[in-house]
Amino acid sequence: LPCSMRDFCEATGVPVAQVLRFMMGMGVMANINATIDQQTAELIAADMDLTIDLKAHETLEDELITSLEEAEDEEADLVTRAPIVTFLGHVDHGKTSLLDALIGINVVKGEAGGITQHIRAYTVEKDGRAVTFVDTPGHEAFTEMRARGANVTDIAVLVVAADDGIMPQTEEAISHAKAAGVPIVVALNKSDLEGVDPMRAMTQMTEHQLTPSEWGGDTEVVRTSATTGMGLDELLETLLTVADLHEYRANPSRKALGVCLEAEQQGDRGVIAKLVVQNGTLRVGDILVCGSSHGRVRAMTDTLTNAPLQEAGPSTPVNLTGLDIPPGAGDRFHVLSDITQAREIAASREHGSRTESLSGVTTKVSFETFQELLEQGRLGEQQEKTKLNVIIRSDVRGSLEAIDKELTKLENPEVEVRVLQRSVGGVTLADVTLASASDAVILAFNVIPDDAARSLADERGVEIRRYDVIYKLTDEIRLMIEGRLRPEK
Ligand code: GDP
Repeated sequence: LPCSMRDFCEATGVPVAQVLRFMMGMGVMANINATIDQQTAELIAADMDLTIDLKAHETLEDELITSLEEAEDEEADLVTRAPIVTFLGHVDHGKTSLLDALIGINVVKGEAGGITQHIRAYTVEKDGRAVTFVDTPGHEAFTEMRARGANVTDIAVLVVAADDGIMPQTEEAISHAKAAGVPIVVALNKSDLEGVDPMRAMTQMTEHQLTPSEWGGDTEVVRTSATTGMGLDELLETLLTVADLHEYRANPSRKALGVCLEAEQQGDRGVIAKLVVQNGTLRVGDILVCGSSHGRVRAMTDTLTNAPLQEAGPSTPVNLTGLDIPPGAGDRFHVLSDITQAREIAASREHGSRTESLSGVTTKVSFETFQELLEQGRLGEQQEKTKLNVIIRSDVRGSLEAIDKELTKLENPEVEVRVLQRSVGGVTLADVTLASASDAVILAFNVIPDDAARSLADERGVEIRRYDVIYKLTDEIRLMIEGRLRPEK
C-alpha cells in the first residue's frame, strides 16, 4: 500500500463493486485504477469486518523476491562452486581450533583486531580449489538459520574429540545435520593425544548410523589435530571429494542472492554486514535488500585478509558496507535494479506484518497440521509416504529405546514415522528450533521443556506432547497415523 483498487481487490478478495460502493458512501467517485492508501484500506477493512494485514503491496514484493529466488539457471551458465562447510560438535571438542588451524590464525588465543565475531566465515584454498567454512556457534544456530530459510551449509564436519568420543551435544549435532539432509564428514580431533583409542569413538559412530568408510560404511572419518596440524590437508581433500560427488554449482552471471550471517553498527564506519553469496555475483555498487535493511554496496572486503573486493561470486563470504541498518542473522539478501524498490521492500518489512515471518518463523507444527497432510496425501495420487517427524526426549535412555522400538512397530503403508532425534533430558531450545525447521512434533516422556523452550514453542507453534506412560504415547501416535486423533486442547 498504497496500491490500485484492482490490486487491493485481488489481494483481499473483496469485490470491486463493493469497494466502489463504499468509496461512493464516503463521497469519493473512484474507478478500478484509483489508488487505495493505507487509511482507506483500513476504513474498508473495518466496514467489511475484514482483517487485512496490508499484504497487497507485499504480495507484489513477494512475487518479485520469489522470482529472483526461483529464476532458473541455464545449464550453460552453471559452474562448480566451493562447498560451504560448517563445523558441528560437542563443546570443547575443537571446532574453533580446527578452523583456526585451517586458516592459520588463532582465535582461541584472541584474534588481532579484537572484533567480536559470533559467526566466522572464511574461504580456504587447497590446490587451487576453494572450501568455504561457516562457523555457527552450535547446532542450535545452525538449525535456526535453516528455519529462516537461510540454508547455507552443504557439508557438516562433525568434530569428535578422540579422547571424549560421542557426547550428548555430538548426538544432537548428528540429528541436526541429518535433519538438514547434508552429508557428514567426521573429524576425529585431538588425535595427537597420547593413548586415545580411535576405535572407541568409531564404534560409537556406528551406533549412530555413521559407519566409517574404512569399516565399509559411507562416513568419511579423518583423524585430525588442531594442535599439530595433523590431518588438515586430508580433511580439505575429503571435503573436496564429497563436493565433487555432489556437484555443487551456481550461476555467477545472475544477480546475487544469499544470506546475512551477522551484522553490526560500527561507529562512523556504518553498518558492517557479513554475507555469504549463494548464487550470482555481488558487485560494489549493487543495490541490495536484506531483511528490513537496504542500500548500495559501498565496499566489500575478504573476510580473512581484509583485502578490498570489487566482486564476490558464489560461495564467497564478504564483509560489506553500505546498508542503512544492520540486517538480522539469517536474513536473505537480494540484488535489485531499483533503489526505490529496495527501500520500499525494506520499509514494508520493517513496519509490515512480514517482518515476523522473515526474521522469525511462524510455522505451525502440530498433530493438527499432520492430519491435514495426511488428508492431502490420501486425496492426491501420492507417491511418497506422508512423513511424521518426531523428536523424542526422555528421562532415561532405557525408555528412549523402548519408545523407539514401539514406534517401529507402527509401520503403515501411508505414513513413515521419522525420529529426527532421540535424547535424554528436558526439552531444550535446540529441540524446538529443530522441530520448527523440520516440521516435527516433540514427544516429551517424563520430562518437561525449560522456560525458554516452552516460550519459543508457543511462538513458533511447535507442539510438545507430554507423556508418562509409553503405551499412551504409542497409542496416540497410532491414532494419529490412522488419522483418528483429535487435536489436543
Ligand atoms: P570448541 O568449543 O569445539 O570450539 O573447542 P575449542 O576449539 O575451543 O577447543 C577446546 C580446547 O581443546 C582448547 O583448549 C584447545 O586448545 C583444545 N584442542 C582443540 N583441538 C585440539 C587438538 O587437536 N589436540 C589437543 N591436544 N587439544 C586440542
